[in-house]
Amino acid sequence: ASFGPANRIARTEETHPLTWRLRDDGQPVWLEEYQQKNGYTAARKALLDMAQADIVNTVKTSGLKGRGGAGFPTGVKWSLMPADESLNIRYLLCNADEMEPNTWKDRLLMEQLPHLLIEGMLISARALKAYRGYIFLRGEYVDAARHLNRAIDEAKAAGLLGSNILGSGFDFELFVHTGAGRYICGEETALINSLEGRRANPRAKPPFPAAVGVWGKPTCVNNVETLCNVPAIVGNGVQWYTGLARPDSGDHGTKLMGFSGKVKNPGIWELPFGITARELFEEYAGGMRDGFTLKCWQPGGAGTGFLLPEHLEAQMYSGGIGKVGTRMGTGLALAVDHTISMVSLLRNMEEFFARESCGWCTPCRDGLPWSVKTLRALERGEGRPEDLEVLARLVDFLGPGKTFCAHAPGAVEPLGSAIKYFRSEFEAGISPAAAVGKPGAEFVQ
Ligand code: NAD
Repeated sequence: ASFGPANRIARTEETHPLTWRLRDDGQPVWLEEYQQKNGYTAARKALLDMAQADIVNTVKTSGLKGRGGAGFPTGVKWSLMPADESLNIRYLLCNADEMEPNTWKDRLLMEQLPHLLIEGMLISARALKAYRGYIFLRGEYVDAARHLNRAIDEAKAAGLLGSNILGSGFDFELFVHTGAGRYICGEETALINSLEGRRANPRAKPPFPAAVGVWGKPTCVNNVETLCNVPAIVGNGVQWYTGLARPDSGDHGTKLMGFSGKVKNPGIWELPFGITARELFEEYAGGMRDGFTLKCWQPGGAGTGFLLPEHLEAQMYSGGIGKVGTRMGTGLALAVDHTISMVSLLRNMEEFFARESCGWCTPCRDGLPWSVKTLRALERGEGRPEDLEVLARLVDFLGPGKTFCAHAPGAVEPLGSAIKYFRSEFEAGISPAAAVGKPGAEFVQ
């Protein structure tokens, strides 16, 4: 997959705060080259010339929103850290447990621009008064771990991490902590449990991590791409940043967006918020390969809803996909072509979600395997007439607000939309023999 601006996009500071420093050969940008490309000038400004509250205000007014998938305003999250100076132990966690199916944007940032993340964390830590940071990294990301650790060593040797950074009096230590390959570790409170050496079950929220986080201390958890935006915002200012998105987008800045599936040019590009999904699909991903037609698409990971080809007119922004009723998620879209059975695709997805459930709360633990069992029967043509009702009720029972964390709601969002748009494919899996008798007693208890 390609990464960074496609040939037709100018690789300039003005339009690409994340990717303009990328090398053409895909190799990592180490410290010397990063500094030649203005690296750590924003950190210098933040540590030496700005008050801590000014950094928070800058990020708040920039309108930066979380890039992990939920789009929560970053500055608001930062403001929730307690002002009380006596709570002097605070942590900054970078959520780098990128495991959303079809999403690999953070991996490429960490592999190729490790210093951008370190600089973003250094500025953020200063803003949050955090003296220690952890990058909780997906275990399989071995190259990212290697590159981050080397970059941390380079930064320490150059006085950009450790004690009295750049003579500012600010101390910040940064560590890479590799996970062991569970999707649920990306849920921020499960991540905190895992970092502490506990089983990765999500915790109840509230209290949010800003109040009670790692080892009970105030903690801020931000995604890799979110933190990588901070140097450009602080370095170039809010006005510059807010001017990057399309004027009518309802969002600020740029986003790593991508398309995979049977498109001509699968890849990731840094694009302004407000671009239409059609521009992303046709101009950047090149449309479908010859012999394939677009049946439907998902805007940003397995936990987002399916949309139809006509929804490509919608704009990409973190509040949602236009007005068509699903979240943008991670922004890395999937093209589903006409050869794909929706029942099989959903069976595959729900197997993943069922396997990755931590099992802590009943709807998720029992409901997801139930959806898998039902979808398997429909896939074999052995479904019962009531199976669509079973699936519809599971979509409801596992929806937002009914489980401990966002895992089950994310799992059923694609299921609900697939049934809505492709009901006949699910109905086709009902066995004519089963349709004659058998009441749905199993579900109604
Ligand atoms: P969420 O909406 O519950 O929370 C988002 C963030 O906002 C969290 O940090 C949370 O603490 C904060 N927040 C929300 N309400 C708050 C409040 N009232 N006060 C203070 N802070 C508040 O979502 P989530 O469970 O963190 O994330 C779900 C998303 O993660 C999904 O949208 C999915 O797309 C995405 N996801 C991404 C990956 C990946 O690999 N990038 C993997 C799985 C899921």
